[in-house]
Amino acid sequence: MKFNTKTIHGGQKPEEATGAVMPPVFLTSTFAQSSPGKHKGYAYARGTNPTRTALENSLASIENGTHGFAFSSGMAAIDCVLRLLKPGDEIIAGNDLYGGTYRMFTQLFQKYGLEFTYVDTDEIVNITNAITEKTKLVWLETPTNPLMKIADIAAISVAVKDINSAILIAVDNTFATPYLQQPLTLGADIVMHSATKYLGGHSDLIMGALMVKEETLAKEIHFIQFAAGAIAAPMDSFLALRGIKTLHIRMQRHCENGRAVASFLENHAKVGQVYFPGLENHRGHKIAKKQMKDFGGMVSFKLKDESIEATFKFLENTKLFTLAESLGGVESLVNHPATMSHGSIPEKERLKIGITNSLVRLSVGIEDIEDLLADLEQALNA
Ligand code: PLP
Repeated sequence: MKFNTKTIHGGQKPEEATGAVMPPVFLTSTFAQSSPGKHKGYAYARGTNPTRTALENSLASIENGTHGFAFSSGMAAIDCVLRLLKPGDEIIAGNDLYGGTYRMFTQLFQKYGLEFTYVDTDEIVNITNAITEKTKLVWLETPTNPLMKIADIAAISVAVKDINSAILIAVDNTFATPYLQQPLTLGADIVMHSATKYLGGHSDLIMGALMVKEETLAKEIHFIQFAAGAIAAPMDSFLALRGIKTLHIRMQRHCENGRAVASFLENHAKVGQVYFPGLENHRGHKIAKKQMKDFGGMVSFKLKDESIEATFKFLENTKLFTLAESLGGVESLVNHPATMSHGSIPEKERLKIGITNSLVRLSVGIEDIEDLLADLEQALNA
């Protein structure tokens, strides 16, 4: 099956009892057994639930994996990956990460003896130079949130595995989605999503996902998820599965609108730097062109007037772009990373990597582009 077909049919079959084309929402915590341990494949819903199974089969299919896992949030999915490790293990992570990921690494897992090294992942040598005998995991985001940096997944996978094939490569694929890039096919071991974003696509659920292509890893992840219990609920699983079925057509419009917004901002007299991998002057443009089908709907930028007053004035005056956390829904959102999505990163660290108080992040939705550009124009002139 090709990708667009997979979003609709991948891992799906009509429900056996009734032929329902969409899986029923199995709101049950437990399943009848005919004799102890004898059941129809489902025993207790923390372990498996048929609605979640339908979603997990779809998740595996769209990322070219063999197994998918749906979690109660994106953070719960990342937490599960880190639980594959033990105290003393080292992780190399990108230095531009979603703020919550950085907070989890620095404020939670460092406490349990995991060691993190943060590097600029747009240069492979920064990663390979940081590898030690204790390195067990490389954690990549690409494009990064919010600076839209690009990491070369295929080249990094080869370079890291050449040094030690046991090091796991995990990619947070939230910004790109499998419509644009499929990290497992590019050599990564684990793909992670905040399914809250583009996979769900309608800003109506919180969910995380992991996809893998290797049996032992899948067994370990299933064990951690079952033992720790951070599972996606049945209704959310249904909504996410429904969202995935239109992922490809939503992404086409997100990409189209994203390109138009980036080009509008780049040519606007009041706008300074624009961060969008589709722009030819973007540092990661060539790699993005190679590993992504298009460039997505996330665009960050700074005003020429970098004062906090001018930035807040813009943020307070958009009308269609709603000022809110999150991204990847059908509606356009605007975000102020320094105080919102990345507010948990200490100011000194934030400024070091370029998340200044003047940075604005747009999640460009699938509305009519003329309306979106008019909204940006009026807010820039407010
Ligand atoms: N990864 C990225 C790139 C994100 O943007 C987010 C949330 O914004 C997360 C992970 C965390 O996901 P969730 O909010 O679903 O827990």
